Amino acid sequence: MAIMRVSNLKKSYGNLEVLKKVTFEIEKNDVVAVIGPSGSGKSTMLRSLVHLEQIDAGSIQIGDEFLVKDGKYASVQEIKQITARMGMVFQHFNLFPHLTVKENLELAPRIVKGEAEAEVDKRSKELLAKVGLSDKADAYPSKLSGGQKQRVAIARALMMKPDILLFDEPTSALDPELTGEVLQVIKQLAEEHMTMIVVTHEMGFAREVANQVMFMDNGEFIESGEPESFFRNPQSDRAKAFLQRVL
Ligand code: ADP
Ligand code: MG
Repeated sequence: MAIMRVSNLKKSYGNLEVLKKVTFEIEKNDVVAVIGPSGSGKSTMLRSLVHLEQIDAGSIQIGDEFLVKDGKYASVQEIKQITARMGMVFQHFNLFPHLTVKENLELAPRIVKGEAEAEVDKRSKELLAKVGLSDKADAYPSKLSGGQKQRVAIARALMMKPDILLFDEPTSALDPELTGEVLQVIKQLAEEHMTMIVVTHEMGFAREVANQVMFMDNGEFIESGEPESFFRNPQSDRAKAFLQRVL
């Protein structure tokens, strides 16, 4: 069953048409790698899914609920509920600098969801252990490496128990030697069947971890497929040209 259905998304910034007719479906447990040239609309697409951007036309359906249907958005309350089913991890971590690691994890569950302190405390400890950062619970983000910050950001997103996790180039801001520890966490989540959309420049990672690759160029998905066949035998000229540049 599709957990996310997106059809004919359109979005412009002024005269610039950034998303043209973006259409795709994600099944539960899918790990989708979104690849494509810089400026092709990948971030705008992800941001639209969690309502950080407002689209101009099209539909976004999560499960059987519409965030937006034929350009018409759900109510503010519904939007809140629907977007809460998705977690987002950004390129630049976006941690709260004045809060400790543990406080970063616990803020949204406490404030947004009003969860009990004991429950939130238990879960944040579990998730910090999961990303290998139990010893950093009381550290401030400024004391962490980029790789550690990104692992905190992933744990923070997981605190909200999302049905789908979205990553926007999670390793692009990292020194090369720190990308592995972040990709390893994402890989582990994939093995646990977390449903994920990962915008990435890491072709090796896409090939190894994703079960579906979607290639975006100039505001639309041009081609998608299983990683093996996509990377071995891309069909469109644009995907061929892109892969020649990056591989
Ligand atoms: P990608 O993530 O694939 O690099 P983006 O979604 O960031 O692409 O950007 C797609 C296009 O939209 C680019 O041409 C970019 O300059 C433009 N763009 C992105 N955000 C804005 C904005 N807030 N205002 C105007 N143009 C934007
Ligand atoms: Mg981007």
